[in-house]
Amino acid sequence: MDVHRYDPSRLETIEAWGRNKAAAGYVFRPSTVDGVRDVISFAQHHNHRVVLRGAGRSYGDASLGSEQLILDITRLNRVLNWDPDTGVVECEAGVTIEQLWKYCIGDGWWPPVVSGTMAPTLAGALGMNIHGKNNFKVGTIGEHVTEVDVIIADGQCLTCSPTVHAEMFHAVIGGFGSLGVITRVVLQMKRVYSGKLLVDPIYAKNIEHMFTIFEQRIPDADYLVGWIDAFASGDSLGRGQVHQANYVTSTNPTQSLRVQAQDLPDNIFGIIPKSILWRFMKPFVNDTGMKIINWAKATASRLKDGVVHEESHAGFAFLLDYVPNWKLAYGDEGLIQYQAFVPAGSAKPCFKTILERCQNAGLVPYLAVFKQHRMDPFLMTHAVDGFSLALDFRLTAANRKRVWALAAELDALLLSSGGKFYFAKDATLSADRISDYLGEARVQQFLALKRVVDPSGIFRTDLFERIFGDAWRGLGGA
Ligand SMILES: Cc1cc2nc3c(=O)[nH]c(=O)nc-3n(C[C@H](O)[C@H](O)[C@H](O)COP(=O)(O)OP(=O)(O)OC[C@H]3O[C@@H](n4cnc5c(N)ncnc54)[C@H](O)[C@@H]3O)c2cc1C
Repeated sequence: MDVHRYDPSRLETIEAWGRNKAAAGYVFRPSTVDGVRDVISFAQHHNHRVVLRGAGRSYGDASLGSEQLILDITRLNRVLNWDPDTGVVECEAGVTIEQLWKYCIGDGWWPPVVSGTMAPTLAGALGMNIHGKNNFKVGTIGEHVTEVDVIIADGQCLTCSPTVHAEMFHAVIGGFGSLGVITRVVLQMKRVYSGKLLVDPIYAKNIEHMFTIFEQRIPDADYLVGWIDAFASGDSLGRGQVHQANYVTSTNPTQSLRVQAQDLPDNIFGIIPKSILWRFMKPFVNDTGMKIINWAKATASRLKDGVVHEESHAGFAFLLDYVPNWKLAYGDEGLIQYQAFVPAGSAKPCFKTILERCQNAGLVPYLAVFKQHRMDPFLMTHAVDGFSLALDFRLTAANRKRVWALAAELDALLLSSGGKFYFAKDATLSADRISDYLGEARVQQFLALKRVVDPSGIFRTDLFERIFGDAWRGLGGA
């Protein structure tokens, strides 16, 4: 690869997905593993950082690097091996969740864990160790991976599995691009016997009720997710809707397992192209508009309570892909997402306080999503045996400082509740919180491993610099 064309023409301004940060970097898109090695070697010789980037769907600075080399993995996107009998798939790491489900569904297999958008690459999904609406049942995506290839800073390829290079396996998954480049992934897919899910919508009159519904439904649910109207207050604080979805076996598998039966429609009402829908949303993405929309959705949820229906896997899983580029409706300053992970014992009072503090600060999230989680075996895990509340805040030039101040206040509350943060969503966390979040021993274990596989510290994103930069330099790192 012509890595030596290190000239201004490679300089691209790259935005965080939430448009809350941007940085210009020299972008390289190798299509081979040797090309990946060339970029690493070039960085070593020119004293540059390498910022690993997938599809750029992390909300904050997780795959940004100011004036650094951006190693974009998206052209390493070939499916290498597929066994329709066992559901084991071997892919280059730039394969996206969209490619994966479209490739396998016709044979009756679906990715075991997906995010709310199908855009992420497997590399990015593993870099953050993503979870889905079934996290309480099947864990994170890393728990379904049997092998990964990782190119470390000296160009060596480590083939890691839960038993071979096990420490590296459990650290590179969830290691936010700080230990090496994942280039190949072997993943066990999930058997499905129909392209449909049976979906049961349940109205929750407040946050207490939301917790009760989860407690009742968890034992029999394949997927469970709650939406919350963050504007509701008083007795209705935390009202919303839970969706329980379950696999079915009966619904015309040969038809429903076709990609065409899954795909999200290109037009709304058959005529309006989805691509321009965000423009219609834009006038409503403000406090008044979103209060009305949240109220209308809560009212509709009450009316639809218990109306069980079928949905395609893609339709249920990728709701956030229905309106492409919906983030543009938030305006030029973008948005942040604050996802609070809290152990079951303290989640209820913690989430109530979070919702109240947002309202008191006059910074009400326009979207709030509630999920249940379980622990996982990865080193830098964000998992809790408990719940998460994900909150989308619109940013404006006038409120940015107040949003950061609120996030800092919520960080303190979260830590006092035994809570955790998620780097895929984070844009605000400061370095001084990290030991309380992960524990000093875990942070030191991670940095010690980094010193072995990346002694000169070339794999550093802006997120790494923001949170671990000082600790790394404190250990003598570059
Ligand atoms: C609308 C929306 C909904 C979402 N829903 C969910 C959800 O339900 N659950 C969830 O968990 N997340 C969710 N996310 C977050 C998203 O799944 C993660 O941020 C994911 O990491 C994005 O993958 P990506 O390919 O875009 O990677 P990027 O965002 O580009 O990178 C993610 C991380 O992986 C690292 N990385 C990239 N390539 C490599 C590589 N080759 N080797 C090692 N590390 C690498 C990067 O340095 C970075 O730290 C959502 C995001 C959006 C925008």
